[in-house]
Amino acid sequence: MRRYDYLVVGCGMFGAVFARRAAEAGRRVRVIDKRPHIAGNCYSEQIAGVEVHRYGPHIFHTDNPRVWQFLNRFTEFNNYTHHGRVRHGNRVWSFPINLMTLAQLWGIRTPAEAERKLHEVRVPCEKPQNLQEWILSQVGEELYEIFVRGYTTKQWGRDPAELPPSIIRRIPIRQTYDDRYFADRFQGVPIGGYTHMFANMLDHDAIDVELGVDYFEHAGELEGDAERVVYTGKIDEYFGYRFGELEYRSLRFENEVLEGDFQGTAIVNYTEAAVPFTRITEHKHFEFQTSRQTVITREYPAACDRGQVPYYPIRDAANAALYERYRAEAGRSGLLLGGRLATYQYYDMHQVVAQALTLADKEFQREDLPVHPPRLAA
Ligand code: UDP
Repeated sequence: MRRYDYLVVGCGMFGAVFARRAAEAGRRVRVIDKRPHIAGNCYSEQIAGVEVHRYGPHIFHTDNPRVWQFLNRFTEFNNYTHHGRVRHGNRVWSFPINLMTLAQLWGIRTPAEAERKLHEVRVPCEKPQNLQEWILSQVGEELYEIFVRGYTTKQWGRDPAELPPSIIRRIPIRQTYDDRYFADRFQGVPIGGYTHMFANMLDHDAIDVELGVDYFEHAGELEGDAERVVYTGKIDEYFGYRFGELEYRSLRFENEVLEGDFQGTAIVNYTEAAVPFTRITEHKHFEFQTSRQTVITREYPAACDRGQVPYYPIRDAANAALYERYRAEAGRSGLLLGGRLATYQYYDMHQVVAQALTLADKEFQREDLPVHPPRLAA
């Protein structure tokens, strides 16, 4: 008899949420990760008294009450709501583009003035085919130059004319003074850190977590001990790159511990091409801390060879077509896929939680949920 119902490869957001739901449905789950820690790229740790997001800033946001309620079983969230800032030359700008940005740039004060000016500067394009055409058709050359061209070229290592519009459409453009980065109803950062939230989620008698375990070194033995495999790593790697390599973008982080307050806010984007990093995160502002010390992280985009950590799938048409071949192969072999890497999508955390809850619903047909509401005691 196999010891486990599920082997979950990868202890990031998808793996942890699925494991928890499987355990609650009465299944035995083994979760492995090649890293020495849980929480995948959400991992956070204490440095100089500050909770630091080791793999880049993670700000939770969702409009989905089920996703929000699920995570709130394992942590309390503070009410951090993200407001971006951009440094370009010596100036600081309000970001995402909103009425304050336009006031800073053009002295515009009202939505009507904004619409008139934008109408004048937009570069019309009936069917924008790429990121550059799309953003020019929304805001024109000047805003594109200050906010998008340099940042996007650095971030993706490609000209914005070679990227899909979907990459930038995730950021709002507003003709009001609302400068929230995300418009979602539920937002925040886990009090006590992401790692703590994951530890609580994985704390269940039916879940075994094994860290520092490379799936590919022990695949036969691991798969032999579980009925089904849920895989959350790179799908091209799983299939030995047999159809070719999917493209990803990687990142490199440089931390510095300083005294005081470095930038007065959690994230400042550096949008000039000449500055080698894309942004600086000052972690204590996620928790409204006023401690003496502060930790800042400069984030440098990097090429992603096989040895590097993949962060962003470069989902252009060629890569999307290649992904489909791998997905079909996974379907034939009964492999279950989830998360940013295995489904090759530029997902936010809340989308991954929803994806894991949906797969769990399907696998367990919600049999563990009461069909009728429990009867209240008289
Ligand atoms: N972007 C930009 N300028 C900015 C911030 C973002 O041009 O100051 C573009 C860039 O192409 C980036 C995309 O918008 O990859 C999505 O940005 P987001 O902040 O959502 O990126 P993430 O937080 O996922 O790294």
